[in-house]
Amino acid sequence: MTLDEFDVIRTYFKKKLKRNDILRGIGDDCALLSPPANKNLLVSTDTLNLGSHFFADTPPFDIGYKSVAVSLSDLAAMGGEPAWLLLSLTLPKIDNAWLEEFSKGLFSAMCPLNLELVGGNITKGPLAITTQILGFIPEGIILSRSGARENDLIFVTGTLGDAALALAIFNKEIDERLFSVEEIQQLKTRLFRPLPRIMEGQIISEVATSAIDLSDGLIADLQHILEQSRMGATLYLKNIPLSPQLKKIERTCQQNLVLNGGDDYELCFTLPPKQVPALMKKLVQQNLGEIRCIGKIESTLGLRITQANGLLVDFEHKGYKHF
Ligand code: ADP
Ligand code: MG
Repeated sequence: MTLDEFDVIRTYFKKKLKRNDILRGIGDDCALLSPPANKNLLVSTDTLNLGSHFFADTPPFDIGYKSVAVSLSDLAAMGGEPAWLLLSLTLPKIDNAWLEEFSKGLFSAMCPLNLELVGGNITKGPLAITTQILGFIPEGIILSRSGARENDLIFVTGTLGDAALALAIFNKEIDERLFSVEEIQQLKTRLFRPLPRIMEGQIISEVATSAIDLSDGLIADLQHILEQSRMGATLYLKNIPLSPQLKKIERTCQQNLVLNGGDDYELCFTLPPKQVPALMKKLVQQNLGEIRCIGKIESTLGLRITQANGLLVDFEHKGYKHF
């Protein structure tokens, strides 16, 4: 039986609501939502397109998962608490098997987070997925890209370059025989099931001076902080955290993936040195992953990258650009 768009919504996307701040969810012309009085609203939208963000052979579960994860990562970068999601789907046809897996992936990324789908749209056309996320931040907290100050330290969560390494392996630019089956699996997870740093973002937001999520590559994204804060920085190459997989590849290639590889969805943030011990302690107490100091904000504009011996690295700046 062929489903129409309303059957699709009912079958795959309309779930029993658990949050009590959704006065009307899927089914009306708008969702009617009741944000808490003492919080501000954070809103962000993102689109995944076939051919750019995923490929014909990407499992639909992963596409569903990632469409939520990329929006959650934007929210994490501003310290937000996720609440509501909208989903606009452009589909070439109604494919039940695809929708079943896609929606499973979507809800699997949402469900640990008390995040609920409150509306969306379905149209016919080349496959594209747009999500819009809404979340809260306590009044008075603004974690933006523009607050970095001289002598702040630059930190990142997790390890960098793994998603780009996975992509390079799929594109046969790097020999997959360097890695075990398990290592390849871990890299695939980094590319298709990124872990948005929601808890870290909330904790960081209390003390950090600026933050961004790393979607286009460390250099490209850090430059946004530097430009908007009107500051410069030095990065210490040897401090950048690398996965065991990344350590296995040739140095020039490794350096390029770490500095310019996109899709990591880790957070990069700046912190006054005196805030470091308390933040480290808090992250450990909450069982959250390590953060690593990779550099320092300076008043001299521009970005410098140094090696262990103190010499400057001659780096290429070619983060992901859409056009
Ligand atoms: P309208 O024509 O008024 O824009 P639609 O008929 O497109 O509304 O959608 C009906 C309801 O289903 C709306 O509440 C809308 O938010 C919801 N909806 C549509 N598509 C999706 C989707 N992909 N995921 C979740 N909710 C959806
Ligand atoms: Mg309407």
